[in-house]
Amino acid sequence: TQENYQQLAYEKMDNLIPAIVQHHLTGEILMQGFMNKEAIEVTLTQEKVTFYSRSKSRLWQKGETSGNTLDLKQLITDCDKDSLIALAQPNGPTCHLGTTSCFPESNFNQRHFISILESVIASRKDADASESYTAQLFAKGMNKIAQKVGEEGVEVALAGVAEDDAALLGESADLLFHLIVLLQARGLTLNDVMNTLIERHK
Ligand code: AMP
Ligand code: ZN
Ligand code: ZN
Ligand code: ZN
Repeated sequence: TQENYQQLAYEKMDNLIPAIVQHHLTGEILMQGFMNKEAIEVTLTQEKVTFYSRSKSRLWQKGETSGNTLDLKQLITDCDKDSLIALAQPNGPTCHLGTTSCFPESNFNQRHFISILESVIASRKDADASESYTAQLFAKGMNKIAQKVGEEGVEVALAGVAEDDAALLGESADLLFHLIVLLQARGLTLNDVMNTLIERHK
């Protein structure tokens, strides 16, 4: 709520709070800026990440001219309330140089790409089946989806036995894709699977 943001440690740094913008699905750090009280209020009420620009000496909503806005998903503070993380969904590249992030690509954990893929797959549930293979799969229903998962599972196994790494990579990608479709068709997510793995690990 807004009240919590009245109590940030504004006095520490000239009424400015450093704010890191992180992709809400992948965890990728997209950029860093500063927020004052007003920027935080606008960020929360408009659900668009907004900073106080030290060079422009005014509020600056990211994307105000480029259109590459950052949709706020969650704004969180650290333990001593002197810094912020804005979890956001970017609309286009965040860096004005045209890259996804202002930081080098090395900050992208490839493992998290599967979350982006999962959200694209989920969005195909009500997409036009004539334009999307994934939408076609959803339209055909569970029997077809399950059959594909079975086939791809067998293909992964055969590639393993054949010691064919190129085939193993391709078939593993096919299996992961179709597995996500199957989970989505049942209303389940990879997070649910991760929670099951975490539970077993205990
Ligand atoms: P935008 O907010 O995307 O409309 O960009 C407006 C201006 O803000 C640009 O011309 C840059 O000067 C600056 N700018 C945009 N994105 C960034 C960024 N990620 N980091 C620092 N400055 C930026
Ligand atoms: Zn702190
Ligand atoms: Zn940049
Ligand atoms: Zn395959």
